[in-house]
Amino acid sequence: MSEKTPFEIARETLKQITLRKLPPTPVNYQAIYHAVAGLPQVELFPEEPLRRIAQALPARNPGQEKQLGLLDYAINQRNWLGVHNALLAYAGFAAPGGGAPHPAAPEPLTADAPDITSGVLEQVARLIEFAQPAFGKEDTGFLERMQQTLDALRDPSVNILRIKVQLADFNHRLSFAAEEQAEIRQALFKLLQLIIKNIGELSPDDAWLQGQIQALQTAAQPPLTLRRLDEVEHQLKDVIFKQTEVKGRAIEAQESLRQMLAAFITRLTQVTASSSDYQDKMEDSLRDLEQAKTLEDIGPVLRGLIRATRDMRLETVNVGQELQSMRAQVQAKEAELRKLQAELERLSAQVRHDGLTGALNRQGLDEAFVRELSTVRRKDAPLCVALLDIDNFKRLNDARGHETGDVALQHLVAVAKENLRPQDTLARYGGEEFVILLPETALEQGMEIMTRLQRELSKRFFLARPKQGTKSEPPGDAATAGADQDKIFITFSAGVAQLTADETAEQALHRADQAMYLAKRAGKNRVVAA
Ligand code: GH3
Ligand code: MG
Ligand code: MG
Repeated sequence: MSEKTPFEIARETLKQITLRKLPPTPVNYQAIYHAVAGLPQVELFPEEPLRRIAQALPARNPGQEKQLGLLDYAINQRNWLGVHNALLAYAGFAAPGGGAPHPAAPEPLTADAPDITSGVLEQVARLIEFAQPAFGKEDTGFLERMQQTLDALRDPSVNILRIKVQLADFNHRLSFAAEEQAEIRQALFKLLQLIIKNIGELSPDDAWLQGQIQALQTAAQPPLTLRRLDEVEHQLKDVIFKQTEVKGRAIEAQESLRQMLAAFITRLTQVTASSSDYQDKMEDSLRDLEQAKTLEDIGPVLRGLIRATRDMRLETVNVGQELQSMRAQVQAKEAELRKLQAELERLSAQVRHDGLTGALNRQGLDEAFVRELSTVRRKDAPLCVALLDIDNFKRLNDARGHETGDVALQHLVAVAKENLRPQDTLARYGGEEFVILLPETALEQGMEIMTRLQRELSKRFFLARPKQGTKSEPPGDAATAGADQDKIFITFSAGVAQLTADETAEQALHRADQAMYLAKRAGKNRVVAA
């Protein structure tokens, strides 16, 4: 094949650029020119390292997925600006499409290329730095490579070859480190579930604990946010606290029972021993009696018998007295245990969560109120306080039984938790009354949130069997669901108050309560502003 003339090379280069639909940039022109002319390639565009970076970046949401697509396209097109924009938008520094030119748009003039290169390299460096906390500090080898890569990326001489080698090596390690982190997360998650399950199994007969364990299991479902983990941690502390109390109590009761039993067995052995002694003496006496030939022979036998009987009687009286004292001890122990139980109940009231629903209890609400109030005052942000009361709850209890009423309370809490924001606080205020704190929320928005929850609840049902042995009509809100289960809908009435600057938490709650009362009077299943 004859050598091409410079003119032919130039023509072929332009033809290739057009055929491959590449932007007619100096970078592209030079790369194609060198390829056509059979000259060694001078890497002005680090296609390979960039491609590795693009492959190492995860698409965690549709926005990032789109940006990764654009990044790929820009790399194919050897389009620096496209790479720059896609990386910025991926990292969240520029709105996708916000001022970003069409991916196929031509590159700026050559003079800008070095600037853009160092700009992109700086973005890549930052990307790596932002990702660092996710990998921890344990793997020093990984951290060392990361630092070397960062140094290469930030080297003012922009040594593309060095960057390429460093990035390739770093990406290789990164892929392993990322996989390892994902596995660690999974393992920790399983461990958490296991701990919760095992704590529950330690005291299977404590209803309070069982309720908390169930609430914990629900709370510890993925996806876990930091706030949710914080909630799980608090709940777990409550459970462990109660667990320790219950266990201490059980061990004490067990120990005292063991002691009683041991004493009882000792006494029983003594009684058996003395009665078999007595038996032996009786048998001896009988034998002596049979062999007795004279009255004188019978005399000692009789005396022996009388002594043995008196000893036996004395022994019986002693045993009786001891058993009496043991009974008194048992009674004292029982009284002590009852006192302990009462003390435990008082302590349980100090934990923050309601056992039936897993929502905060009064204590938890008080603490949350203190927290929210200080934030509100500090930030000068609005806070809404909502109080809701389930409608016709007594009727549901009467028609379906108390257990169904309990399920209704859990149902309400589940729906509320799904619909409220993570920063909102839900607390059981009393029987079927709940308080919701809505931080950084003005009255109008608070009304919207509560109305949305009210609508959502009126759409969602739970299933319940008719009350056993009763033919009573179902409550007005129930609809037939199947052969032996009905769909139960519940509604609530609520009042919403926005905390004013000079108001206490109790005053705001009182206003919300009054508004709730108005909602009841106006026909229930509605939300009224205070
Ligand atoms: P209204 O629509 O006016 O609010 O009427 P209501 O029937 O909901 O209200 P009322 O105050 O008359 O009755 C509340 C009932 O809630 C009475 C009480 O037995 C019941 N209750 C309180 N705590 C619990 C609980 O933990 N479980 C169950 N199942 N019922 C409860
Ligand atoms: Mg009520
Ligand atoms: Mg009610």
